[in-house]
Amino acid sequence: SVTKESLEKWLELFGDLIETNKAYLSDLDTPIGDGDHGNNMARGMVAVKETLASKQPEDIVGVFKITAMSLISKVGGASGPLYGTAFLEMAKASAKTDDLAELMELALAGIKKRGGAEAGDKTMVDVWTVLVPKLKDNSLTQADIDAAVESTKDMVAKKGRASYLGERSVGHLDPGAVSSGYLFTALLEAGV
Ligand code: ADP
Ligand code: MG
Ligand code: MG
Repeated sequence: SVTKESLEKWLELFGDLIETNKAYLSDLDTPIGDGDHGNNMARGMVAVKETLASKQPEDIVGVFKITAMSLISKVGGASGPLYGTAFLEMAKASAKTDDLAELMELALAGIKKRGGAEAGDKTMVDVWTVLVPKLKDNSLTQADIDAAVESTKDMVAKKGRASYLGERSVGHLDPGAVSSGYLFTALLEAGV
């Protein structure tokens, strides 16, 4: 279950992975997008870190809420509102439950509702859809994460900027799927 400590550790590790892989994420976004995904996410996660440090929320609801607000206001693009919605859904639900799998399930529902993407559309939804059930049955591994991210490579994009390329989006990993993979890797490492 999520505690304030494990949640903050998770976010810190996610922020580190985003920062380390910022250029890689933006490179992935270059052939099938506008080349800004890594910069967008890094700007957002820096804001999360700074705002958590200055506001010092006292419970998980507060941590989720600050994370959501920082991502919504700083990431921009398509991914900002989607990650923001995910954390906002978790903020709302975390007043009642600290079950991570339950929270992530609600987060995924929020992403799908907000962006209208389904599994197979070559977006972050592909990673979340495969991995949330693995959180539920406590079986998530790094190999599962890698496979879910890799699965987006051969898909034709149906949502977001990459969809403008149609069939030409095939052969490229989806950048948002890769950043979402980092979110799950950080979660494993934090032992949430
Ligand atoms: P933008 O495309 O506005 O520049 P980013 O580059 O930050 O935004 O994010 C692009 C990522 O957002 C994509 O790789 C994809 O994973 C995700 N994305 C875009 N549109 C959607 C959508 N409708 N539903 C889910 N994810 C989406
Ligand atoms: Mg982009
Ligand atoms: Mg953009």
